[in-house]
Amino acid sequence: MITVLRLGHRFERDKRISTHICLTARALGADEVVFDVRDERVEDSVKRITNDWGGNFKVNFTEDYKKFIKNFNGVRVHLTMYGLNVNDVLKEISDKSKEKNLLIIVGGQKVDSEVYFLTDYNVGIGNQPHSEVAALAVFLDRFFDGKETQKKFNGKLEIIPKAQGKEVIKKGEI
Ligand code: SAM
Repeated sequence: MITVLRLGHRFERDKRISTHICLTARALGADEVVFDVRDERVEDSVKRITNDWGGNFKVNFTEDYKKFIKNFNGVRVHLTMYGLNVNDVLKEISDKSKEKNLLIIVGGQKVDSEVYFLTDYNVGIGNQPHSEVAALAVFLDRFFDGKETQKKFNGKLEIIPKAQGKEVIKKGEI
């Protein structure tokens, strides 16, 4: 089970980027995203996508994210530009999480410094500032070695990959 914890969602500004975190997490092999701020607009758009495109992806909420991290039963990875380079720690993380749950934490605004000490790994996707969506996508792709891009979702909608043009099969009412 792979859980993404998204910290620092700002209700006024972050609807789109938080939705993108969920869609990226879902498409690239994670099972749920947990937020520390409830935003039903994000939950609803992710539910709609999952309803049409399949899978069991969930959006959840925690009232106390520090407790959530402390109590998480598995390997805890915080993605941050200040962390150790992904190339240097990926194998150890993969080995350790083979039979365990994995928690991947991404921030938005400044992440509380305590988080850096509550996690098992602070991992940099390079050491330049970029985006939580990009960091999550690269980490998941590296973690699954690219295989997640061929995951089957058994949805009501399914795309038939084509060299040119678009083909979508509709298998149920959407
Ligand atoms: N100063 C922040 C940091 O600690 O990485 C950059 C803030 S960035 C707008 C928001 C989030 O994107 C961060 O909390 C982190 O999860 C992710 N992020 C940005 N750059 C990253 C990098 N090079 N490696 C890993 N994660 C990164």
